[in-house]
Amino acid sequence: MRRFRRLRTSTEMRRMVRETDLDKKDFIYPLFVAEGRGIKNPIESMPEMYQYSIDMLDEPLSLIYDSGISRILIFGIPAHKDDKASSAYDDNGVTQNAVRYIKEKLPNLIVIADICLCEYTSHGHCGVVCNGEILNDETLPLLAKMAVSMAKAGGRHRCTLGYDGRSSGCYKNSS
Ligand SMILES: [Zn+2]
Repeated sequence: MRRFRRLRTSTEMRRMVRETDLDKKDFIYPLFVAEGRGIKNPIESMPEMYQYSIDMLDEPLSLIYDSGISRILIFGIPAHKDDKASSAYDDNGVTQNAVRYIKEKLPNLIVIADICLCEYTSHGHCGVVCNGEILNDETLPLLAKMAVSMAKAGGRHRCTLGYDGRSSGCYKNSS
């Protein structure tokens, strides 16, 4: 068996042969925003990560901004969930309000909203479910409404959209 450790022996050698460089500009910070007030709940599976309510966002936002990371991905945690994911496309929903708040405060931060219904449905699936199946035709208009609502929340600064619903096979192109 051959081991190619020769190329790993020193920092200089590794630097020379490295194919991938990671920089702050490559990272997107996930921000979990819960509906309510005064919330800073630790996320057990992600050490040092918390769910914040909007009134508690200033602390993580300044940490993120000062660290040089310029992109965040918001995961909203709505108080109300139902089988049509109505909080996902409520213009006054927790995610939309978070986008609005962050864009007002830090207009240069790139805010990405995840277009995905999982967190907003009472059953946790990424779409309308009937007899144990996700119905793509019924789900698509909801994803579209969510995308429009998130884009509107970004206002003149715009909100970038991440299309996660694609993983359920609801559509192919995200452009
Ligand atoms: Zn989803």
